[in-house]
Amino acid sequence: MFKVNENYQKLPGSYLFADIAKRVAAYTAAHPEKRIIRMGIGDVTRPLAPAVIAAMEKASAEMGDAATFRGYAPDHGYDFLREKIVEFDYKSRGVSLAPDEVFVSDGAKSDTGNIGDILSVDNVVAVCDPVYPVYVDTNAMAGRAGDYGPDGRWNKLVYMPCLPENGFVPDFPEKTPDVIYLCYPNNPTGGAATADALRRWVGYALENGALILYDSAYEAYIAEPDIPHSIYEIDGAKACAIEFRSFSKTAGFTGTRCAYTVIPKELESAAAAGGAGGGRVSLNALWGRRQATKLNGVSYIIQRGAEATYSDPGREYGKATIGHYMENARLIREGLEKAGFSVWGGVNAPYIWLKAPGKLSSWDLFDLLLDRAGVVGTPGSGFGPHGEGYFRLTAFSSREDTIEGVGRIAAAAAAL
Ligand code: PLP
Repeated sequence: MFKVNENYQKLPGSYLFADIAKRVAAYTAAHPEKRIIRMGIGDVTRPLAPAVIAAMEKASAEMGDAATFRGYAPDHGYDFLREKIVEFDYKSRGVSLAPDEVFVSDGAKSDTGNIGDILSVDNVVAVCDPVYPVYVDTNAMAGRAGDYGPDGRWNKLVYMPCLPENGFVPDFPEKTPDVIYLCYPNNPTGGAATADALRRWVGYALENGALILYDSAYEAYIAEPDIPHSIYEIDGAKACAIEFRSFSKTAGFTGTRCAYTVIPKELESAAAAGGAGGGRVSLNALWGRRQATKLNGVSYIIQRGAEATYSDPGREYGKATIGHYMENARLIREGLEKAGFSVWGGVNAPYIWLKAPGKLSSWDLFDLLLDRAGVVGTPGSGFGPHGEGYFRLTAFSSREDTIEGVGRIAAAAAAL
């Protein structure tokens, strides 16, 4: 009799967005005349750059001609894209990488979720709290998280609170972890990590033989000069960190799908006992082996589209799009501050994190804003125990909806 992976049975239901949808549906049924404004979306809304579309059309035409047709893409990405990544995303910031330290994939969700394949299940894993849920759930699936308790915590995970008091960058945990997930600019808090903060974490990882899994999916939103775009801007990081990047939020590829993961060759681990070769093991080699076995590459057409994001018109368009979202972020941040809310984020990230007034819980504020303002956001408690009492708004709506949404929230707050 076959058995399923019992770790999947330990997973709590993923109720957050289902619950939100249920409450919105009930409100709409009761108030069909009210237009709902959605400020909880974590998905981009602006279209792809014309340069990207042109590149994908050209690549598409090549696929219809026997002389230029392409079959399987290289497992780790076409050189034309890996070279652009190395030049524009790293060399321009003083980081030297070789193209074969870059692994092109279909998404940072898959890569941050799959990276555990090359790591022992015995590793102690630390996550920020609140957190992008993929890190937690994929470790639970692998059996690294232990059991899920009634307090909303996995008993083998190390939770690192991220609060206004620490600027949403965690302090070192009491129990020393082997693997540390960091995400900056941060989803959901909108926090950013300074070079000093990252230096401390890199030092800590090197000292303790820990691995940092650094998700910088939102690096393109960084506006302040002292915020590193890559963890490799910090000395020593190449020996202790893997970095995840994505074209999703930087170039509107959420539906098109393209991302990449950087694993420097100097990043090594002690070999598992009994493993072939003994000595040190290259994570670059292990991930290369993993991807070659489980991924047949990313579509040529998509990779040509991603390449075009680095062209002059592609980069200009990308900057303008991010400028559009960040103007929304500014309007939300300033509008809510004026309305009396305590607000964070929205400066180097498209997320605004706000405190529910008084003793309101995250869900209380959700219901209140839905009921009195017709605005939908995301309860902070859905991202982890320390998200309780907070609320996430995103800058991805249209300008009109952002302005109207902020006005409605301010009016509802004034009536409290
Ligand atoms: N990492 C973070 C922190 C995210 O917020 C998201 C998407 O919301 C992703 C990764 C997923 O990126 P991708 O679209 O490349 O899978």
